[in-house]
Amino acid sequence: MLDPNLIDPEVFAAEGRCLQGKWALNQLDGRVWLHEYLADKQAEVSFVLKGGRDRWQRLYLDLSVKGDVPLFCQRCVKPMPFAFDESSRIVLFADDEGLDEAMLSDDELEGMLLQKALDVRTLVEDQILMAIPFSPRHEDCGNDALAEVNQDKPNPFAVLAGLKNSR
Ligand SMILES: [Zn+2]
Repeated sequence: MLDPNLIDPEVFAAEGRCLQGKWALNQLDGRVWLHEYLADKQAEVSFVLKGGRDRWQRLYLDLSVKGDVPLFCQRCVKPMPFAFDESSRIVLFADDEGLDEAMLSDDELEGMLLQKALDVRTLVEDQILMAIPFSPRHEDCGNDALAEVNQDKPNPFAVLAGLKNSR
């Protein structure tokens, strides 16, 4: 059976195809789910991959990956919520010269050499690993106690609404 996550990037981009899907972290490679910061290996991430051609006629893949993946706080080692939504454009090049030249003239560029078969999972895994903060921490590790105290304070949005009405 053909694996839908295995694409020919050249055809995918040239035909402007689109692919989307969802994985639990533990369905991905160990370099993701074994990551020491990830607190819930069943947290789900979803992705959308779209192919196209830019104004210089270069083929590209637009990837966006998002998810809600709790991380271990690096101060108190308790889980903390972490949501990310990352998009990137990967421009495809037929040879090293083309890639090097484009990278030199645009240091923001993400480029990749064309290959016959590309596993979309790998792209998604890279994106997740890039999204994980270097050292995630709660703003305040005593957050349970703090959350209770905050409930007695007026909700800031309620105050804003009050200001609007008094105009
Ligand atoms: Zn903490």
